[in-house]
Amino acid sequence: MDHLLSSNKYDVAIAGAGLAGLSLAYKIKKNPKLAHLRIALIDPSPKTNNDRTWCFWSKETDCFEDILYTKWESIEFSSSGFTKAFTIAPYVYKMIRGIDFYRYTKDFLKSQEKVDFYNESVVKISESPDTTNTIQCQESRIKADTVFKSYYDKKDFSKDHFVWQHFKGWTIQTEEDCFDPGKAVFMDFRVEQDNETRFFYVLPFSTKQALVEIAVFSEEIPHESFYDPYLVHYIKNYLTGGKYTILETELGAIPMTTHNFIASKKSSVIHIGTNAGSVKASSGYAYKRIQQETDKVIKFMEQNRLYKYRPSSNRYHFYDKILLNVILSGKASGKTIFECLFQNLKPQTIFSFLDEEGKFMNELKVFSAPPSRPFIIGYLQEMYKKITGS
Ligand SMILES: Cc1cc2nc3c(=O)[nH]c(=O)nc-3n(C[C@H](O)[C@H](O)[C@H](O)COP(=O)(O)OP(=O)(O)OC[C@H]3O[C@@H](n4cnc5c(N)ncnc54)[C@H](O)[C@@H]3O)c2cc1C
Repeated sequence: MDHLLSSNKYDVAIAGAGLAGLSLAYKIKKNPKLAHLRIALIDPSPKTNNDRTWCFWSKETDCFEDILYTKWESIEFSSSGFTKAFTIAPYVYKMIRGIDFYRYTKDFLKSQEKVDFYNESVVKISESPDTTNTIQCQESRIKADTVFKSYYDKKDFSKDHFVWQHFKGWTIQTEEDCFDPGKAVFMDFRVEQDNETRFFYVLPFSTKQALVEIAVFSEEIPHESFYDPYLVHYIKNYLTGGKYTILETELGAIPMTTHNFIASKKSSVIHIGTNAGSVKASSGYAYKRIQQETDKVIKFMEQNRLYKYRPSSNRYHFYDKILLNVILSGKASGKTIFECLFQNLKPQTIFSFLDEEGKFMNELKVFSAPPSRPFIIGYLQEMYKKITGS
């Protein structure tokens, strides 16, 4: 633990101090109505590595705008037959590096009164709706009125559609000018699909430096050496025939699931982040949803109410089910679907749909861009499951 404690009783305990946990603690301490609360943050990871980068499209600014690493106003989509570049205004595609976020939020939180960090794992949370909850950590035992829990166990997700989006990326430095720093390669499907959904993205920081990453949707996560030949081949064939140096490696997996994340109304242990369904099931993006979610939690806390996060409306939850049904059953490949979307639609329409903005015309456009037969079958199958409860 970083601070010496006078007591182990807190107003708020945050189990899992990653993106959701640190965003929430930061927003509590920045809020004049809530800053008096005593907070415990519990996480075994010291968060001293750049373990991930978050990219997201946005029309607005948020409270972490100062730590943006870079941003792009244009994106490119490529597949076997075509390459298309788009300007994305009013959106901007933005990147925040994990390490910058961890430093920024932790430095701020450490400068505040009534914040304690416990560098250990939570072993058990014993819930007590009427009295105080107990959080048993590896060494410490903490009590808190409200507990937010962000880490998850895949076993807790139902057997509804589930697929990992797993990836490996290298930040490379080239000798020649190879990249256009004004444009991010959003998706490039010029890679053997092998009955999965596989694509690259290239996020340039300068003409000689970029993060090059391969993402794969599959049920199992392979050994980390799996990705290397694909990365080497892609860099050689599409980026540079010359020499390059690998500066950093990013490796990770995101659960994409249509599990029904509905929180118990009585519980004072509140799920946040990935554990609350903040990862959009059909895209794997979560950064923006986590910021929206933690903003809502703060609004409820201001009114002394407990917030139960509901990540998607029934309608969008159903759309995600259809999309995952179509991709996972092989009715249409991810490559075919994304090719059709980017050949026929503007990225702004796709972003608005993925942001669940509720624009019916956009929804219609998105569902009519890819081949209709797989989606009609997917729709009928999901309707059948809904009606029969199977
Ligand atoms: C490598 C990577 C890249 C990603 N890139 C993007 C992106 O570009 N855009 C996007 O929108 N989303 C992205 N995501 C998805 C998502 O935004 C991130 O996973 C995000 O970090 C989720 O936030 P979280 O708080 O739910 O989980 P995390 O940030 O993973 O935080 C959970 C925390 O819980 C801690 N923990 C685990 N077990 C315990 C325990 N027993 N007790 C206490 N603490 C525990 C972990 O150490 C961790 O710090 C990415 C994910 C990964 C893995």
